[in-house]
Parts: sequence; structure tokens; C-alpha cells
Amino acid sequence: MRLLDLQLRNFRNYEELNLSFEPGVNLIVGNNAQGKTNLLESISYLGSGKSFRALKQAEMVRFGADFADMEANVFAQGRQQQLRYVLFSGSRPRQIYRNGAKKKSAAELSGVLPTVLFCPEDLMVLKTGAAARRRLGDHALCDLRPNYDAALTEYNRILDQKSRILKDHFEYPHLLEVLPEYNTRLCQVGALLISYRARFYDSLGKAAAQYHDRFSGGAEEFRLQYKTVSTVSDPFAPVQQLTQDLLDHQASHHRAEIESGQCLTGPHKDDFTVTLSGIDLKAYGSQGQTRTAAISLKLAQRELMAREWGEEPVLLLDDVLSELDQGRQDFILNQITSGQVFITCCEPGRFTKLGKTIEIEKGKII
Ligand code: ATP
Ligand code: MG
Repeated sequence: MRLLDLQLRNFRNYEELNLSFEPGVNLIVGNNAQGKTNLLESISYLGSGKSFRALKQAEMVRFGADFADMEANVFAQGRQQQLRYVLFSGSRPRQIYRNGAKKKSAAELSGVLPTVLFCPEDLMVLKTGAAARRRLGDHALCDLRPNYDAALTEYNRILDQKSRILKDHFEYPHLLEVLPEYNTRLCQVGALLISYRARFYDSLGKAAAQYHDRFSGGAEEFRLQYKTVSTVSDPFAPVQQLTQDLLDHQASHHRAEIESGQCLTGPHKDDFTVTLSGIDLKAYGSQGQTRTAAISLKLAQRELMAREWGEEPVLLLDDVLSELDQGRQDFILNQITSGQVFITCCEPGRFTKLGKTIEIEKGKII
């Protein structure tokens, strides 16, 4: 798939932007705080209906404006298609259009413009806290599987309600009457998440291992392992079994949850680890090893998307190349000889040989 053009009105610091793109590499160059990441955010949002940086849609509406309008023409699934989102500064729900027809949810746009974002924080994702790894995994899985996206939203909703019950029951003891209902539902939906994640991390790990192998010249064996709730002995087990495993864990933490007022059980604390030839990367990996492994992981994510949709997803490299030494830059660039790529960087002239350069200053093309 390929992004042909983009129109933004009142999105972030863009009052009005009309741009068309190259099928290969598009370089977005500009000083700090000019709107480079904002541009990538708009592309990624059009593709997934999610922002990688905003917590609320209103953040993306230009300061002082009532709404933001984003539109793109995309070549996907053998034809030209149009995507459009309108976001409001107030509480009004966003509007979603595909080829001019209004859609209820972003899931109905799924597969038209899949993107993979790679930014400098991702380079250290295997070293930092579990939350960043979960975010990375969840984003990738939501893009691949709209049903996972729906299950995750549902899980978080139930978790929120359960957490509120546990927090407030000291003051309102009758709340505990409905707790069992929430526990059961949380385990059922949680089991579904584990089932998706087990398969996803298995494929991701295998694909990443191949990149890492090429990257390190076969010197290190990359292995990714998915970690979930301790009572789950086989995350590939049928969902019914997984539900039972989660219920068991829940039951053994019931008292502790009531006493602490906190939710202590469920796959919202899942994680994954990477070992290189058996050595845990998080604890022992060097900076170079960590970066190399993270690059392999990102390229793997791109590959899984390409397999799923039958076309290369659009790759968004936000400031990541300038962070890397020549060898690692070359490795990435050599792996992405096909498909469309957007690369942001601050230094003009740095990567100009790669493709078309778009220069941005204060939300305008110069
Ligand atoms: P860097 O090189 O530092 O990463 P960048 O070019 O990627 O910079 P962006 O993050 O794209 O910069 O843009 C940041 C600018 O956009 C900031 O100056 C910020 O104030 C502005 N901005 C963010 N949200 C909005 C908004 N809703 N309305 C207007 N301006 C906004
Ligand atoms: Mg930026």
C-alpha cells in the first residue's frame, strides 16, 4: 500500500497542508518543533485510528480551532481509496469516512493503510519497563487483528470498573456484591487476550530471530519469550482452559485484592523477554545488542504486517536513523528496499540521496 497524498486542516500545528508523496522514500526535514512528528502522527492516525502520542483526540486539534480534518488518498488492495477523519476539540465523537461513506469505527478502515512506527524510544524498549513493551506489542497486535483491539478495549473497561470497586469498597461495602461478576468477565476476556498474544509473540519472535541472525552474522541466537499470569502453563491452550487458569489465579489473590484495594491478577501486566544465546538482554545486554535486537523486532513487526495484508505497510522512521551508527543505518535501509517509507530528521542533506525531501517550518512546507 502507498500513501498518495495528504490534506490536513487544523491538525496540530498544521493550519492547512496539502502534500503528495513518492512511492519510495520520503524525507521530512526540519528543525526541532516544526511539525515532523506531527506529520507522521497524522499518517499513523489515518491508518489505525489511534495516536501514538495523544491521550485524547482534542490534543490533535490545532490550538484555538474547533475541529481537525485529515484526509488521504491511498493506493491499497489494488485500487485508490480515500480515508478521512474529523476530530473535535470538545467531547463530540470523531467522524470516520472511507471513500466518502461514513463509518462507525476505525476497524472498518482496517488494512487500507497499515503503518509501522519506529522511534528512538523503541531502540531501548528491551531495556526499559514492561509497560513500553506491552504498548509496543498491543499496538502491533491491534493493527493486525481488529478483534484483538475490541477485546483489549473491553478488557480495559472491565478492569477499570473492577479497580474502582476494589478502591471504593472500604467506603461502600455493598459494591463487593457485584465483584464476582466482574472477576469472571475479566478472566474470560483476559483469556482471549492471552490466546492472541501467544500466537503473535511466537510469530514475532521467529521473524525477529531471522533478522537478528542476518544482522549479527549468526553470532547470537535471538529468542523471544512471552510472559503471562503464572497459573497459565500453556498460553496456546484453548481459551476455556486459559479462563480456568486465570480464575485459579484470581481466587488465590482474592483476599489480597480486597485488603489492598487493588487489582492484583490478570494479563494487564504481561511482558516478554528477549535472550541472546540464552543471556537475558534486559539484565545483561550491551547498548549495541539492545539496539540491534530492537531493530530486528521492528523489522519483524513490519514483516508480519506485510504477510497479513499481502502488501508492505508504510514505514514511519521518526528520528531513528540519525540515532544509529552507519552499520545499523545501512542494515535497516538494506532491509527496506521495497515499500513506502517516511523518514524524519533534523539535518538537511543527511539522507537526501534516499528520496524526495520535504522541508517543514512551523507547520508549512518550504
Ligand atoms: P523534533 O525534531 O524536536 O522532534 P518535530 O518537528 O518532530 O520536532 P513536532 O513534535 O511534530 O516537532 O511538533 C511540535 C510542535 O507542534 C510544538 O511546537 C507544539 O507546540 C506544536 N503542537 C502540538 N500540538 C499542537 C496543537 N494541538 N496545536 C498547535 N500546535 C501544536
Ligand atoms: Mg519529532
